[in-house]
Order: sequence, then structure tokens, then C-alpha cells
Amino acid sequence: MSLVEIKQVTKDYQIGEVSVRALKDIELDIEKQSFVSFVGPSGSGKTTLLNLIGCLDKPSSGEVFVNGTPVNSFSNKEAAQFRGQHLGFIFQNFNLLPVLTTYENVEYPLIMVQNIPVGKRKERIMHYLEAVGMTDQKDKYPSQLSGGQKQRVAVARALVTDPKLVLADEPTANLDHATAFKVIKLMKQMQENLKTTFIFSTHDPKVVKEAEIIYTLEDGKLVDK
Ligand code: ADP
Ligand code: MG
Repeated sequence: MSLVEIKQVTKDYQIGEVSVRALKDIELDIEKQSFVSFVGPSGSGKTTLLNLIGCLDKPSSGEVFVNGTPVNSFSNKEAAQFRGQHLGFIFQNFNLLPVLTTYENVEYPLIMVQNIPVGKRKERIMHYLEAVGMTDQKDKYPSQLSGGQKQRVAVARALVTDPKLVLADEPTANLDHATAFKVIKLMKQMQENLKTTFIFSTHDPKVVKEAEIIYTLEDGKLVDK
């Protein structure tokens, strides 16, 4: 069984009277522990596709299965539960909470979505801070960190719940090439060590080269490249 199965998915956005087709007849299978990139120009449908897999939105037609579960039929509450249990997210602008320290940002999903006892929690957080090389920065606030350091915290936060699947929407877009490369390397290490599956979108050719499987989108369609 594939970790992600997308069957004949189409997504339309309705803006007043006008309907925009963001995805057309998408058919896709992603195996466990793969390192996949969605590539394509701005507006080609990368974010829309990630959002459907991440149960943040629903297709207009077709079906999305994650870990064998038809996630398109979830209620909002079920979707939130599923995200908390199975998925990790890394966003382009890091989305760290400015009033929380590095440690507290990584702790946040453990408090919000998983009931892990305090003692265990600390152990886990320190493990992931170590893994992303941010132990020394644990008491700093996001405003005191560089772009690359913030993205490392975001990676630790995405992984701390031990998700099967991490979705990253242009995770390196705000980083210089050297830092972007380090963040990708870090994600690859996690893939190897924890068997995590990563799906990320990018339009940076240097970052694309690091992916093991590349899907190219054009005008909402998957194209062979
Ligand atoms: P990408 O991430 O590759 O830049 P998107 O998935 O954001 O592409 O967008 C795909 C298409 O869907 C674009 O034409 C975009 O304008 C449209 N679109 C995306 N989100 C919305 C929305 N919330 N409402 C209306 N149109 C949208
Ligand atoms: Mg996008």
C-alpha cells in the first residue's frame, strides 16, 4: 500500500462567478520513506496539491488516501485529529510563534495535539533539538535566530510528533543556497534515520536536484519531464 494515493483528483476554486481549475486529473502514488518534490512555476498547483494531501482542503472530485485512509471524507475535526497524529508541516515563512522560545516552539505540537507526559516531552524535544543542531539556541526567541536557524526549529517542530509524513511548502524559499542545502540535507537524514516520508514543493532548480522523485506540474496537470 502506498503512503499517499491520489485518484483522479480535480480541484476548482470558485471566485464569485468564475471557476479556476487549480488541479486537473491528478493521479499519483507515493511510497513510504520517499523524498519527493513537486516542481513547477508559480500558480501551477503545488500548494493546492500539498494542501489536499495535508487534509487542509478537499478535492472537487476524486479521492485522496493517506496511509490507506480516505482523507477527503473527513469532517474538519477528524482532519485536525489526523493532521496532529500523522502529519508534520514546514512552511515557507517558518511560522514560528514569536513569543515562544526555540524549545517552546518545538514543544507546542506536543501540547496541542498529543497528550505526552511532561517528562517524556522534554526528552523528545531535546532529542529533536539535538538532531537539528539547535540545542545551544534552545532559550532564544525567533527574532534572535537567523533564517536557517528558524527553519531548523521548524523542521524539529514538524518532526517532534513523529509523523509518518512531512509536507513542506517551499521550505527553502527564504534561505540562501548554502542554508537551503543544509535544510534539505537535514530532511534527508531524518528520512533515513526515522523512515519519514517528505514531500516538498520548490521552484529552485538547485533544491530540486536533491529530490529522489520529482513530479512536475504545469497549469494544474502532472507532466512528464
Ligand atoms: P503554486 O503553489 O504552484 O504557486 P497554487 O496551488 O497556489 O500554485 O495555485 C494554483 C492555481 O489556483 C492558481 O491559478 C491560483 O491562482 C489558484 N488558487 C490557489 N488558491 C486559491 C484560492 N484560495 N482561491 C482561488 N484561487 C486559488
Ligand atoms: Mg505555492
